[in-house]
Amino acid sequence: MRYQRSSELFLTANKYIPGGVNSPVRAFKSVGGTPVFMKSAKGAYLTDEDNNTYIDYINSWGPMILGHSREEVVEAVKKQAEKGFSFGTPTELETEIAKLITEVVPNVDQVRMVSSGTEACMSAIRLARGFTKKEKIIKFEGCYHGHADSFLIKAGSGAATFGSPNSPGVTSGTAKDTLLAKYNSIESVKKLFEENKNEIAGIILEPVAGNMGCIPPQENFLQELRSLCDAHNALLIFDEVMTGFRFTLGGVQQLYNVKADLVTFGKVIGGGMPVGAFAGTNEIMNHLAPNGAVYQAGTLSGNPIAMTAGLTTLQILKNNPTIYTKINSTTETLATEINNILSSKGVEFSINQKCSMISVFFGQEKVIDFDSASRANHQEFNRFFHSMLNQGIYLPPSGYETWFISNEIDETEIEKTLQAIKKSF
Ligand SMILES: *Cc1c(COP(=O)(O)O)cnc(C)c1O
Repeated sequence: MRYQRSSELFLTANKYIPGGVNSPVRAFKSVGGTPVFMKSAKGAYLTDEDNNTYIDYINSWGPMILGHSREEVVEAVKKQAEKGFSFGTPTELETEIAKLITEVVPNVDQVRMVSSGTEACMSAIRLARGFTKKEKIIKFEGCYHGHADSFLIKAGSGAATFGSPNSPGVTSGTAKDTLLAKYNSIESVKKLFEENKNEIAGIILEPVAGNMGCIPPQENFLQELRSLCDAHNALLIFDEVMTGFRFTLGGVQQLYNVKADLVTFGKVIGGGMPVGAFAGTNEIMNHLAPNGAVYQAGTLSGNPIAMTAGLTTLQILKNNPTIYTKINSTTETLATEINNILSSKGVEFSINQKCSMISVFFGQEKVIDFDSASRANHQEFNRFFHSMLNQGIYLPPSGYETWFISNEIDETEIEKTLQAIKKSF
């Protein structure tokens, strides 16, 4: 049986780990079947416990932009490991990575490192509240900013996949300070500002959404959010945990020429290690402890091994700008070819793509927000997912997710992928 050992491992895992997984989206609940247990990865390929190999279109949900086990990163981490795992003191590495980030990301002077995207986003809104002395934040339906209480309100992919957009355990007190707007609807944001005069600390969003599938902002949407924040003394927070260092070095601010007040990072910034970060101008960041009164801390924040993986990854990206050209054009080719195949087969679908993120939705409708993403044919996606999996193509196990293209995906992999898609229909 193709997934024999994975099935056995999953049975045992379920005894000791809730649902057998340490993060819900890994459980294949939405697509059905048994999650595949991986044992190693190299370049564009994953190998599972039954020795099946897969072309990887998840790339650890984004971080592995260079592909798996890139030699320079592995070597740097090995060297660092020999010098000690964690000191609980400042290290030069932390300054190096912060300096690099401020050099390439617009409008940021200082960076605070944390250990996950969740921590980055929850700290960023605390800072926004402390800085503006206001309490409410606006988030968008279908945007995910990690699993902190304030964000588990129509939170996109994971939560949407499980049909629990609002998690039990989040107090009504917390929930009332999170206002919900519709992605790509500036009117819905204007209305919230009118109804909550002088109460809104900031807007947080995925400036190109990836957690309800890939949904780019419509013309001027980001610019108009900027103007609204300026008019109401609120901070604009770009959650670039997914898009940061994936689209360009400067991220969505650079790509769309819109200034954010705070930017959060994760995923690529740690090169596969548990890292997050948030960044902003001196004026705002100086409100953070120990300089300011807004408290935020972490025993393992800026961990030397994690910093080494992140720094080496970012340096490779910085020194090789053609990586972005390549992965973007690979993704465009993929979009065009999938379009051709599905059109010729008479399948109803739409494709959203931005840089090296892409989602295929089934159904007639264009997907521009959470509602339209929900109306897509997710059953058809699930069938497609399993057909691809059985042919050795590893797509994200939910129609609410983005596929991520790595630098190791070349013509050979694209050709194999397209052949598999043809067979799937
Ligand atoms: C993944 C993600 C997060 C959460 O990051 P974790 O490291 O999983 O805590 C936050 N925001 C966005 C946009 C993400 O894609």
